[in-house]
Amino acid sequence: MLKVLGLSPAQLGDQRSLDIHATLNTPFPFRVPRGYVARMQRGNPRDPLLRQVLPVTEEDIQSPGYTQDPLDERGALCGPGILQKYQGRVLLVTTAACAIHCRYCFRRHFSYGNGGLFDSGFGDRRFNAALAYIHRDSTIREVILSGGDPLCLADEKLAALAGVLADIPHVERLRIHTRLPIVLPERADDALLTWITSTTLHTVV
Ligand code: SF4
Repeated sequence: MLKVLGLSPAQLGDQRSLDIHATLNTPFPFRVPRGYVARMQRGNPRDPLLRQVLPVTEEDIQSPGYTQDPLDERGALCGPGILQKYQGRVLLVTTAACAIHCRYCFRRHFSYGNGGLFDSGFGDRRFNAALAYIHRDSTIREVILSGGDPLCLADEKLAALAGVLADIPHVERLRIHTRLPIVLPERADDALLTWITSTTLHTVV
């Protein structure tokens, strides 16, 4: 990436970059779509898009008072991969995959276990337990698809998931937490738009 941007490690100044190749064997490796790199300013070591994805040594500094679970998501878990912080709304950790690894990600230390709830589709017992949870609580109006990035899942899977949720009488709204339309705009294709516009749920992206 630095070569594409016409930058040398020495130009990164105080915020020394980690060896990008060395991060590939870590739980949160360097990852960025080529199209996103193409929107970075060549020769600018402080380009804000570059800073979002460039691994730097400062990430490993431990500071008193900081935590690896800044949103206290462990405290909001109702079961594997399902979180509830507010009445009427639950969040499903559908997948562990993302198209980009934002270095500031608040979920980079999240314990995904065997991936996200829906990486294996309806065959995952954790997913079925989460679905039962939503069925049981008739106050739940909104289901948030999160991850990872839920749009990393195939459209057929997502359409089937939306169908199952739409069959639950008290669920009205589907909210999709995604960065893909920004970092990989070509993901917003006809197949995606077809199921999003045909579900009976009110959908918010
Ligand atoms: S979960 Fe969101 S913030 Fe975290 S790496 Fe993926 S896209 Fe970035």
